[in-house]
Amino acid sequence: MELNQFVIEAAEVKSMAKESGMSVLQLLPSLVKSAQKLARPPISNYHVGAVGLSSDGRIFFGGNIEFPGLPLHHSIHAEQFLVTNAAIRGDIQLKYIAVSAAPCGHCRQFLQEIRGASEIMILITSTENGGGDHQDNDDSFRPVSSFLPHRFGPYDLLHNDVPLLLELHHNNLVFIEDEKNVICNGDVADHEKKLKCAAMEAANQSHAPYSLCPSGVALMDAKGRIYKGSYMESAAYNPSMGPVQAALVAYVAASGGGGFDKIVAAVLVEKEGALVVQDGTARLLLQSISPKCDFHVFRCRDSSSS
Ligand SMILES: [Zn+2]
Repeated sequence: MELNQFVIEAAEVKSMAKESGMSVLQLLPSLVKSAQKLARPPISNYHVGAVGLSSDGRIFFGGNIEFPGLPLHHSIHAEQFLVTNAAIRGDIQLKYIAVSAAPCGHCRQFLQEIRGASEIMILITSTENGGGDHQDNDDSFRPVSSFLPHRFGPYDLLHNDVPLLLELHHNNLVFIEDEKNVICNGDVADHEKKLKCAAMEAANQSHAPYSLCPSGVALMDAKGRIYKGSYMESAAYNPSMGPVQAALVAYVAASGGGGFDKIVAAVLVEKEGALVVQDGTARLLLQSISPKCDFHVFRCRDSSSS
């Protein structure tokens, strides 16, 4: 089956399962090969596909993305893509994930940012090259806690009532130059303002409970379509997902096969005086994937702390 979409709605999931004579949980691993085809790994040529079922019955796809010309830590892992893709759709829970290769340590850690992560069930379909040991090729779902038994995560650092990944965030950010917080109120007509306000919206949804330095990016393609992404932190810092990467997930998920060079403008919104700064890295990544992209940075502040 060919798929160029990154989300399957609940009703369609049900009818697909019915048509193929499978349960929804059996359907999930059968879609992993389609997810692998959506990956963009020009460095490794190793296509990882991940497919997740949410509590509301939707199926989300993820594939790995690599960026030639940049250090490897800019890469997006398939599971991170999947979680970001789900996060774009708002307040949901991921229950089951089928993935083509064993989740790496980085992804096992990243998943900890989801409430109840230990109970998310994972199934590994196979390894792409037929390698891997027998233990990694299991045709049953096993909980994340069996992949990462001695976990370090949000519960070690945060109060229980702090929103986690895939939960609603509002960081109370306003533009520095917009004391009355009016720029993004009402109808935002022109493209430039739209992009700026989308980036602010992404920053307000950012999961940055450790550094308290939320940020967001909005990208615009040549047709004026806008894609936004929120910075997402990990309790272990390094697996954190940058705001440009998150916006690129939105771009790939919405545009399917569109090349990154179609991105013509980008806006980053981040806090003035932040300890964690995205500006330099965001500029570097965007310049590398779309050299003609027009990039602007706007500073904001937390309106609840003044
Ligand atoms: Zn990984």
